[in-house]
Amino acid sequence: MKITNVEGLYLRLPEIQARTDSSQDALIVRISTDAAITGWGEVDASPHVVKAIIDAPPSHTLVNGLRHLLVGEDPLDTDRLWGRMYEGTLYYGREGVVIQAMAGVDLALWDIKGKALGEPVYKLLNGGYRTSVRAYASNMFQSTPGATAERARAARDAGYTAVKFGWEPFGEDPEQDCAFLEAIRREIGEDMELMLDVGHAWDAHTTLERARLFEPYDLFWIEEPLHPDDLDGYAVVSRECEIPIAAGEEECTVTGFNRLMEIGRVDVVQVDPSRVGLTQAMTIAMLAQSSGIPVVNHTFTTDINVAASLHLLASVPNAFLMEYCAEPSEISRSLARNPIVIVDGHARVPEEPGLGVEPDPAVIEKYLVRP
Ligand SMILES: [Mg+2]
Repeated sequence: MKITNVEGLYLRLPEIQARTDSSQDALIVRISTDAAITGWGEVDASPHVVKAIIDAPPSHTLVNGLRHLLVGEDPLDTDRLWGRMYEGTLYYGREGVVIQAMAGVDLALWDIKGKALGEPVYKLLNGGYRTSVRAYASNMFQSTPGATAERARAARDAGYTAVKFGWEPFGEDPEQDCAFLEAIRREIGEDMELMLDVGHAWDAHTTLERARLFEPYDLFWIEEPLHPDDLDGYAVVSRECEIPIAAGEEECTVTGFNRLMEIGRVDVVQVDPSRVGLTQAMTIAMLAQSSGIPVVNHTFTTDINVAASLHLLASVPNAFLMEYCAEPSEISRSLARNPIVIVDGHARVPEEPGLGVEPDPAVIEKYLVRP
């Protein structure tokens, strides 16, 4: 089998709001083969830039677009092709969006491999540790504690046993922060797990102060209290804070995750398959396992990434919980013809060959941005 084309499809809502919600647009990767098998991936980054990285013509041996590096290659050689993309983009890659574009390609290659071999992707990674994963409802804070508590109630009523709230306007003022957490905890009761995503709002000192203040709300983890570059700060809060510290969604390389674990000493590692790729994610999960660190996903985009997350979480021993965006945009909600569904707070790991999610061509057509 040979790769015949690699395309980046840029989908976008008619209006993009200025908030930290990456489900408002999407970059879907489509890889075609001469065996009539199509693979699908996606990238949570700047879609326009990712598309350019796929399309770019070759400049020289160390500066190539991804399509140029992949057409004519065997899509089943996922590890070799990761190395080929890494070396063929070395002058402008190695970190950031080039790696993220490679991650989306990698998901599509794994989708092809599963379809070609007739197996769900998790069977081809490590094989299964679990057939379903407990999901948590991942929410943004609303403008008031009351409106936020309503979202918490919706999650509880939908059968979730864990819920997370994150980002603005949380973190600005300790009294307001307590009012938010108080309202959520009152709504969900004592049995549901509650996670907090701070969205880099604090330094280490503020994090430790707030963590003490938040003790009555029984937080399951505090996510990204610090800027992702503040590894020394992460080391301090991970050592001093009673509540587990989670981070990782900005990292996209094995090296980056290694630093976060070795220097930052975080308690929970969050891997986004659409920014890391399954090939690298397996290495990261095994490194985490060897340090006794549990792995969860970060996912705030379409069901392609949700499915990739499920295959990752199914096939590593140290996984225990899946992020599921409680309010996906219309693109994320409607893209898959066979969406991942959450039943009684759990998601079934897809058993269909490949990633197990097929995009609806009509939805792609509806939101596609044409050059
Ligand atoms: Mg987060």
